[in-house]
Amino acid sequence: MDVASNLQTVKQNISVACKNSNRNPQDITVIAVTKYVTIERTEETIQAGITDIGENRLEGFQEKYHHFKDRAKWHFIGTLQTRKVKDIIDQIDVLHSLDRLSLAKEINKRASKQIECFVQVNVSGEASKHGLKPEEVLPFLEELKAYPKIHVVGLMTMAPHIDDKTKLRSIFRELAQLRVQVQRKQYAYAPCNFLSMGMSNDYSIAIEEGATHVRIGTNLVG
Ligand SMILES: *Cc1c(COP(=O)(O)O)cnc(C)c1O
Repeated sequence: MDVASNLQTVKQNISVACKNSNRNPQDITVIAVTKYVTIERTEETIQAGITDIGENRLEGFQEKYHHFKDRAKWHFIGTLQTRKVKDIIDQIDVLHSLDRLSLAKEINKRASKQIECFVQVNVSGEASKHGLKPEEVLPFLEELKAYPKIHVVGLMTMAPHIDDKTKLRSIFRELAQLRVQVQRKQYAYAPCNFLSMGMSNDYSIAIEEGATHVRIGTNLVG
């Protein structure tokens, strides 16, 4: 399917999820995850009106970034190795995978501007997933005060690949509740207004539970 048609379907689903949860579709940012697709397909994506592009690996990110540059906003959604920070940090608009102090420290050292970051949380507890344990998030944020280039705009999680909607919902709900706890702290460097959660399989549920940023690959760009 062409990206424009896929986008129409995604928008319809977002509209339904927003109705169900009394939210405004304008508060949802769709990030097209282009990690499986070519430059041509990414061009089609931008032509379809999507300007937020997500990549999870350094090579794919840089290939797309160098081609499209300021035609898109650049989200890095995968694990970022500390030693690669210097090569990529000034190309990243939003980092979705801040999960350790060594990474924050290196970003603070190398970035020439403040970086918008989501703190990644491993809500499901799967061993294969990156991210902090929920109970580690508040102490972690406390430590980030020392790194002025880090601006925490929100929390991010990846749900497991399961069909159990009740389980998925409870994972997203837990991240939303954690955000409330963070916001109560009123850290100037961590307003934490956003929730990056929801992928092709589960974005409707994520939106019903408060997602502001959904990261969609398969069902949008293929
Ligand atoms: C690949 C990926 C996505 C998109 O996954 P789809 O199931 O293809 O929509 C979202 N977030 C992250 C972190 C990813 O690596």
